[in-house]
Amino acid sequence: MRKKIVAGNWKMHKNAEQTEDLLNELIDKMPLETEVQVIVAPTFINLATAVDHLEFIAIDVAAQNMHQAESGAFTGEISADMLQNVGVNIVILGHSERRAIFNETDALIASKVNTALEHDMTVIFCFGEELKDRQSKNHFNVVENQLRDGLFSIQASDWSNVVLAYEPVWAIGTGETASPEQAQEMHEFIRETVRKAYGSDIAEDVSILYGGSVKPENAKEIFSKPDVDGGLIGGAALKADDFMAIVNAI
Ligand code: PGA
Repeated sequence: MRKKIVAGNWKMHKNAEQTEDLLNELIDKMPLETEVQVIVAPTFINLATAVDHLEFIAIDVAAQNMHQAESGAFTGEISADMLQNVGVNIVILGHSERRAIFNETDALIASKVNTALEHDMTVIFCFGEELKDRQSKNHFNVVENQLRDGLFSIQASDWSNVVLAYEPVWAIGTGETASPEQAQEMHEFIRETVRKAYGSDIAEDVSILYGGSVKPENAKEIFSKPDVDGGLIGGAALKADDFMAIVNAI
């Protein structure tokens, strides 16, 4: 059965004090019963605090990135083991900001994905086309290539630890959202692409999140589409009221 998921990507926001404040507000506002898996991804330095605060509440903690090597001379980097050792078993990989600003290629992302899966971590695999790709009607090709080159070397058995997050780059942090119809069209294509490569069971079971300017005002309509299984939320994840309104929109 496909899971509904709402994940908040805090990016490089919230210092230690602000992290605690936001976590406490989320704890207060978290619905007592929900079928939605709720995830927050604070910065590396605040992950242990988040795990600690959320110990007794059904909100999971994810990292925003990690290094593919087990350990070694990689100044400034964080390994899978380090994340797991503080209780983090979910990692966001391939975010468009990692791709565009930090030059992460499909091959590098594939190697991070493999390391995370070897550690039995859950990967939230992000991908999505740029504006120029959509304008030139190349968006389906771009998305298919990102899936093939960044993800499709994994084993069929690894899919239970993979969540897909389609995030059209032109909709991230811009206030512009894909229309619910555009999101559905692409999510259906993504599911079909997974089906062709790995079969129907895996395609039906994988959760495909939409990301890009999801807000309380537009969440319900986007989430109502049959192939949209939740969202990866940036800006609106930084306010507890907005984030929980989005969780409740499913
Ligand atoms: P946004 O970011 O919701 O601020 O557009 C989404 C993301 O980058 O994951």
